[in-house]
Amino acid sequence: LQEYDRKYVWHPFTQMRDWEAEPPVVITRGEGCYLVDSDGNRYLDGVASIWTNVHGHCRREINDAIKAQVDRIEHSTQLGLANDQAAILAKRLVEIAPAGLCKVFYSDNGSTAVEIGIKMAFQYQQHRGATRKTKFISFVNAYHGDTIGAVSVGGIDLFHGVFRPLLFPTILAPSPYCYRCELCPEQDSDMCGRLCLAELERLMAAHADETAGLVIEPLVQGAGGMIVHPPGFLKRVRELCDRHDILMIADEVAVGFGRTGTMFACQQEGVTPDIMALSKGITAGYLPLAATMATQKVYDAFLGDYRELKTFFHGHTFTGNPIACATALASLDLFETDRLLDSLPPKIDYLRARLTALEELSHVGNVRQCGMLGGIELVRNKADKKPYPWEERVGMRVCQEAKKHGLFLRPLGNTIVVFPPLVITLDELKFLMDGIETSIRAVTD
Ligand code: PMP
Repeated sequence: LQEYDRKYVWHPFTQMRDWEAEPPVVITRGEGCYLVDSDGNRYLDGVASIWTNVHGHCRREINDAIKAQVDRIEHSTQLGLANDQAAILAKRLVEIAPAGLCKVFYSDNGSTAVEIGIKMAFQYQQHRGATRKTKFISFVNAYHGDTIGAVSVGGIDLFHGVFRPLLFPTILAPSPYCYRCELCPEQDSDMCGRLCLAELERLMAAHADETAGLVIEPLVQGAGGMIVHPPGFLKRVRELCDRHDILMIADEVAVGFGRTGTMFACQQEGVTPDIMALSKGITAGYLPLAATMATQKVYDAFLGDYRELKTFFHGHTFTGNPIACATALASLDLFETDRLLDSLPPKIDYLRARLTALEELSHVGNVRQCGMLGGIELVRNKADKKPYPWEERVGMRVCQEAKKHGLFLRPLGNTIVVFPPLVITLDELKFLMDGIETSIRAVTD
């Protein structure tokens, strides 16, 4: 299997020469929070299969829902037809989303969910006559996916710098990355938030006439390094968008579906974005599905008959796929029957205690947490926060070491990510944090 993989598969975000030398293990099964490889080795899935898995792998209830749906119908188009599962799921999503988001546009992955939000906001402004509003505000360190539009509103040069000539320009705002905030040397989270907001306010006032929308990862910038924004930041961004008539697009692809402790991150600050992008956890990590939700205000700008041509010019072949929607419905049922959100606080507290203890290690510069996600930033020198040079691949080496301790982890540069399935037990969480601590010590001491 490794030979087939090495010979035929082109893996994303991977130096293929490195993997020719040391190929990845091949996963053939999953059980709860564990992945099992072709040799029968078990790994606790510390990153929830790239931040998607909610209820564990191979949950019987979800498997049954998928099997039942396959026996009814596998796919029909949303272009000119509707299907029962997509309609029921849309109603359920509207019921649980921040109040005011009332329409659901389906696609297949996080990047397209964001891309759709961008195109929707652009066309919205055109339809209402604000034809100069064509630009977008995005944040330093943001990640919104790999399609050209989603890359354009991204803010991590390492990932996307090579494509710069292909991208549309955006107005880049500072993000409150408190540990390394250039605006605020004090490393005071409140002050850092205030200074970043002041700069954002200045940018928005200067560019209001030409800005269609602002794209933000609510509460946490995920791929940027699990960078947690100070409380109140999101709410203030909402107010500024209102003041300058700029649509707020919240990218909840990573943080949606319970990750931060509430169903959606925006709900922690009582914020309703104009447009909200969902994917990853929507099917609990089972199948590709995404949803871009919009308010009535946005939807109304597209109302018109064929003479007016107010169509939203976007649509994917597998939009609203019934099997994926049935899977999402089974996942939402499990949120209720397991009382999953209610079960999180003790685990969130335990994670906080373990992360705080890790901060004492001599090469842990900063730990960050929001609900059931965490980031552990490793530094060469704690006193001056000097990072390990990129080519030392310290984060990756910690994750390789963790495999020996029965964990599957994936770093973001020198930040170790903690992002287990939400159903993880306290014992499993202890196993995960013990393994992370041992691996960090082994590689950095
Ligand atoms: N937005 C955010 C916040 C993400 O974390 C990701 C994926 N890591 C995406 C968008 C892109 O999602 P996908 O990989 O499904 O295209």
